[in-house]
Amino acid sequence: MSPTQAAGPRLVLATHNAGKLRELRELLRDQVPGLDVDTQVVDAAAVGGPDVAETGVTFAENSLLKARAVAQATGLVAIADDSGLAVDVLGGAPGIFSARWSGGHGDDQANLDLLLAQLSDIPDAHRGAAFVCAAALAQPGHGAETPTVVQYGQLAGTLLREPRGAGGFGYDPILQPTGETRSCAELSAAEKNAISHRGQAFRALLPAIVEALAQD
Ligand code: IMP
Repeated sequence: MSPTQAAGPRLVLATHNAGKLRELRELLRDQVPGLDVDTQVVDAAAVGGPDVAETGVTFAENSLLKARAVAQATGLVAIADDSGLAVDVLGGAPGIFSARWSGGHGDDQANLDLLLAQLSDIPDAHRGAAFVCAAALAQPGHGAETPTVVQYGQLAGTLLREPRGAGGFGYDPILQPTGETRSCAELSAAEKNAISHRGQAFRALLPAIVEALAQD
């Protein structure tokens, strides 16, 4: 680490989602010697990073596209995730289309309503689904050869027939994790983070983050 880097941002999360940044900061707190997570772990907007189009066809591809672009543009170690809901009876859909399943991007209520309507005739025994996440890390300064690492996480469960709970976002009110009696939207943020696809993927990426920051 150079003296100039010590004072400024060192790790960028390619997201515009404040909740994801908060989760990453908590995960990294006290894990990396010398890293002040509150000031040195930032989102892309804080360091003028690009808003990257998700043109990949897998979660891993999209997470890598975002992490590479942000690392190259900012000169900082970058992390990105891409996630969604994979429904068994739909062959893994909505998958990478989860955020825009009903057409418009990010209309959580419309996406959830459409999915419930599509599955209305499907019996409980066949309502399996999972949240899936790929989390990527990219190191800057190596041109097209940007070193990258990708890790994965998955939270399996059953799709409910009616939304339950007011927490979380997206499809949380209709996914009941295996072994739980509550939907994801009825779990506290800490409870969800402990078992979630994103929590698993970010935790698996932790050694790569520590190693990349030791080299910056
Ligand atoms: P992204 O990874 O932020 O692009 O998320 C894509 C979409 O997947 C979101 O808009 C949600 O619809 C869905 N999704 C991803 N993670 C979760 C989650 O933890 N709970 C509920 N929905 C999720």
